[in-house]
Amino acid sequence: PKRRILVCGGGNGAHCLSTLAASQKNSKVHVLTLFQDEADRWTKLCEDSDVKLTITDLDGSQREQFAKPTLVTKDTEKAMCGVEIIFLVVPAFAHEQYFKAIEPHFQPNTLIVGLPGQAGFEFQCRSILGDKANTCTIASLESLPWACRILEFGRHAQILGAKDSLGISYIKGKTCKLPFPIVASIQDIIGTKPKIEEIQNYIAINLMAKSMVHPPILYGKWKNWDGKPLQNEPLFYQGIDEIQADLLSQVSDELIATGKKLEQVKEGIDMSQVMHIYDWYKTYYKDQITDKSCLMKAMQTNNAYDGLVHPMIKTEDGYVPNFNYRYTTEDIPFGLVVMKGIAEIAGVDTPVMDEIILWAQKKLGKEYIVGSKLSGKDVGTARAPQSFGLKTVDELFDT
Ligand code: NAD
Repeated sequence: PKRRILVCGGGNGAHCLSTLAASQKNSKVHVLTLFQDEADRWTKLCEDSDVKLTITDLDGSQREQFAKPTLVTKDTEKAMCGVEIIFLVVPAFAHEQYFKAIEPHFQPNTLIVGLPGQAGFEFQCRSILGDKANTCTIASLESLPWACRILEFGRHAQILGAKDSLGISYIKGKTCKLPFPIVASIQDIIGTKPKIEEIQNYIAINLMAKSMVHPPILYGKWKNWDGKPLQNEPLFYQGIDEIQADLLSQVSDELIATGKKLEQVKEGIDMSQVMHIYDWYKTYYKDQITDKSCLMKAMQTNNAYDGLVHPMIKTEDGYVPNFNYRYTTEDIPFGLVVMKGIAEIAGVDTPVMDEIILWAQKKLGKEYIVGSKLSGKDVGTARAPQSFGLKTVDELFDT
């Protein structure tokens, strides 16, 4: 029998994943997209042709695959019919809408995968699914497996160079009995690369979410900005200076300290996989970095980042930074604020994260922290564990 897969979303990642999955003989793929008229548009485009997926490997060689989902719809009941694996492949702010839509149609022994989960995925999913969470498995991957983009909506997408390895963690519900292996099934769908590596627990993967990278760089770059427009768009990663690299490194230290403290407080927990961002770069972009001598150099010389610039808005006088881009709108409430929440529960001070959140929340017109406490009026709209009633270390690990 064919494995039934549901891909939620209609963007870059959803195009790529659904085409990869549909090109396998043993799977049947549904796509659920609730956004605007995406489902109708994609359905029409699919009538007479497959989606073309161009895969560019790291050595520059290109392959093409042609396939299409059996169903693209906005109707959650139809989309959910018989599915065994559900992938959410949308920006984190859209997760809630999908969790709420699928909950009434949810069957036991389903695997639900955040691709990527982004920080707080499991807290939110378990809260919305309620008791049903005990009957399923909730997995989350630390990033998308590739850089990718749509070239023509509903018709053509591109995958650019898969990474070497990618972490996954999952929470298996107390009564969940999946009739298939978790990691091997996901690996089958995405292909041989990146190699999916199991991380011991979901809190570790929350502390490793890559949403921690952008805010320190933004803050370091713009905290003393004089407000004058720039004539060029500055490089984001490859333009990193010592101050920005140091901020990033210190945030990483605070996350590792949080992991270590949780290990001390809670017996049997292994957080050793929460690695420093510098070590992560050296592993993850093994073949793409030419100078690995320090974090700053590693980022400046990472080919995967060629040409990527700061989010900017073009004005008549030049470029000004866009502080309402996903590096803040997504990476603060679904990133640093979640990590701050976990650190607060662990009892670890995070002065550098606090400083960055305080700056970013002003730009966003939000209040998550007051001083060094996660007690701002907008905490409820972020995905910190506290927003879902989790307040102690035991509660974090009671899954
Ligand atoms: P995307 O930007 O293509 O997502 C857009 C899609 O999200 C839309 O097509 C729509 O289906 C949905 N959407 C947008 N606005 C919505 C709204 N207001 N309400 C409901 N749905 C809405 O996303 P992507 O590039 O596929 O990335 C998915 C996730 O992976 C993101 O968290 C992103 O940060 C991360 N990521 C992406 C890449 C990449 O190369 N594309 C690489 C690494 C990580």
